[in-house]
Amino acid sequence: MSLADIFIYDTTWPFVAEIAIRVSVMFVLIIVFLRFTGKRGVRQLSIFELTIILSLGSIAGDPMFTEDLPIVQAVIIMSLVIMLYRLCTWLMMRYQPLEDLLEGRSLYIIEDGMLVLDKIEQGKMSHDEFFSEMRQQGIEHLGQVRVGLLETDGTFSVLMFADEEVHYGLPLFPKAYQAVKDIEVHQHYACMYCGQVVQGVVAKQPCNRCEEKSIGWAKAINTKVIR
Ligand SMILES: [Zn+2]
Repeated sequence: MSLADIFIYDTTWPFVAEIAIRVSVMFVLIIVFLRFTGKRGVRQLSIFELTIILSLGSIAGDPMFTEDLPIVQAVIIMSLVIMLYRLCTWLMMRYQPLEDLLEGRSLYIIEDGMLVLDKIEQGKMSHDEFFSEMRQQGIEHLGQVRVGLLETDGTFSVLMFADEEVHYGLPLFPKAYQAVKDIEVHQHYACMYCGQVVQGVVAKQPCNRCEEKSIGWAKAINTKVIR
């Protein structure tokens, strides 16, 4: 096989013209079908929505360049996928268990300034990922956060403490999120795995809340939220 075969093979100018027509038609059809999903736009997708988008994408792609694939077949398949999608969303509105199965559940990841341990594992999100999510919302440490909810589309919703309720918490920015070596008696320390805050010499032991997962203590901070 020559290089020309890889790049050109049996492509003729008439077929290039046909591709142009096919792509234009499919392009319009994709927009029409995505409008039929009833969604207003896409920021993040749940797994279920991603499945729909992937199937639509692969069905829409083939007729763009496959000579013996009539567009009407793609239209039939895309219609069926959209009908299934609408049926599923309709059923999900009525049966909560089905919604939990297809979309997943939102998870309380932070409660009262500490990570909810079993939920972190269910959320399959690494510390790095949700620290980054929180940093992007302007949160400096966990002591500022009353509730943190991981939504099914992967986004993060937080409720903050009022200024006077902010307490010591685990810092989220890399320079402050460092294990300390020397423990001072009056200093507050935060467990780097679960966010539990202790004072003084207690930080010489592993965290009693996350036990064997304990990965050290960082100097806790209690700065207020800058608004
Ligand atoms: Zn801990």
